Amino acid sequence: MGAPADSGDSALAILLATRNAKKRRELERIAAAAALRIHFFDLDLYPDVPTAPEEEATFAGNARAKALWYARATGQICLADDSGLEVDALGGAPGVRSARYAGPQAGDADNRRALLAALRDVPAERRTARFRCALALADEEGILFEADGTTEGTLLAAERGGSGFGYDPLFLSTDLGRTFAEVDSAEKDRVSHRGRALAPLLAFLRDAPLL
Ligand code: IMP
Repeated sequence: MGAPADSGDSALAILLATRNAKKRRELERIAAAAALRIHFFDLDLYPDVPTAPEEEATFAGNARAKALWYARATGQICLADDSGLEVDALGGAPGVRSARYAGPQAGDADNRRALLAALRDVPAERRTARFRCALALADEEGILFEADGTTEGTLLAAERGGSGFGYDPLFLSTDLGRTFAEVDSAEKDRVSHRGRALAPLLAFLRDAPLL
């Protein structure tokens, strides 16, 4: 990723408020597929900016707080994403705690193991779940645009597929009939929570005269 100054003459430069490289690649890929000239750069350019707190009770609240925090700290237009998995049989958990479900240092595999353990006695018909994604775009003055997206599925008792990240190998997509780890990235983007949240945001960016 280059600096904003590398962005070329007519590409819009947006700071992405995530340190998750796989999520960042998904966002870039979806913007590229929409034929938008957006140059994304990331927080690596701002090593001295402290990490935004993620203490809100909702995905939208966290996305808003992160977008404003980094826009104000850097003076850049900032796009923040907060996403996660809501499991009906667990009262909506892991929800906003999806990334650290198995503990503060947990990795994806640890979180999937913790989820399988929590669902051990839950029968297939009650293992409904959804991914949710909230996006917020902000500049120093405030929020410019917000959007969210969801995608429905059920959780398997064993992993299937080798692509994707996070809970993908356990998430059997209702739209696709396969797990998010069994499909290629273009198929996932078409129905994913992130793809659905990005569609209105990209439409906004395409028309936004100020950006
Ligand atoms: P965030 O970085 O705080 O938004 O945490 C998102 C967490 O939710 C990730 O670490 C994953 O565990 C989970 N998650 C979000 N989106 C996806 C997805 O598309 N596939 C699989 N897991 C996801």
